Amino acid sequence: MAALFLFLLALTSPLALASDPSPLQDFCVADEMSPVFVNGFVCKDPKLAAADDFFFSGLDKPGNTMNPVGSKVTAVNVAQIAGLNTLGISLARIDFAPNGLNPPHTHPRATEILVVLEGVLLVGFVTSNPDNKLFAKALNKGDVFVFPEGLIHFQFNSGAMPAVALSGLSSQNPGVITIANAVFGSKPPISDEVLAKAFQLDKKTVDWLQAQFWMSNS
Ligand code: MN
Repeated sequence: MAALFLFLLALTSPLALASDPSPLQDFCVADEMSPVFVNGFVCKDPKLAAADDFFFSGLDKPGNTMNPVGSKVTAVNVAQIAGLNTLGISLARIDFAPNGLNPPHTHPRATEILVVLEGVLLVGFVTSNPDNKLFAKALNKGDVFVFPEGLIHFQFNSGAMPAVALSGLSSQNPGVITIANAVFGSKPPISDEVLAKAFQLDKKTVDWLQAQFWMSNS
C-alpha cells in the first residue's frame, strides 16, 4: 500500500522546479515583520502594497571595488525589493576594477544571464563531474553570456579600464557560494587534514590559506 502511494506520488509530483515556485496570485510582497517561516516570505496584505514595494533606486552608482579581488556585486533581490517575493527573478550590478575578479562561485538557486555594459570580461563556467568542462569566452560591451544554475563560474576584467556588467538571476534569492571563501574561510575552519587531502597540499599551506582574510564581494 505504501509502495503504491509512493508510486502515485511520484507520478503526480513535478519532476523538478526549474526556478522559484510559480506565484498563485498577482504578487506577494514580503512581510518582513512576520514571525512565520515559510519557503520565501509571508505576504503582506495586498491592499497595503504600494509602488515602493516594487522599487529600488541607485543601481547607477558604481560599487566600491577597493578590496582584494577588485570587484563588487550590488545585489537587487528580495532583500532590497520586497515585491520580488515569489516572482523567481532578481538583478545584480557587478563592478570591476582593472584586472578585478568576481571569483569562482555558484548560485544554488539561479541561472544567471549577464550583459557587459562597459569594458571587457573573460567569463566562464565549469560543468559538473565527471567532465568538469570549461566553457569560457572573452566578452565585449553589449555581449551576453549565460551561467547555468548551480554551476561554478567567474568573471574577470581582462582590460585596463573599469568594467560594469548587469546580471539577471532566476530566483528572488539566488544565494552565492564563493568557493575559496566557503572552503578556506568557513567558521569554524574545516580540519586542515581534510583540506590537505582534498587539495593535495601540505597542512602548512592549508593553514596559510585558512589564515588569509576571506572577504565576500557580495
Ligand atoms: Mn554569478
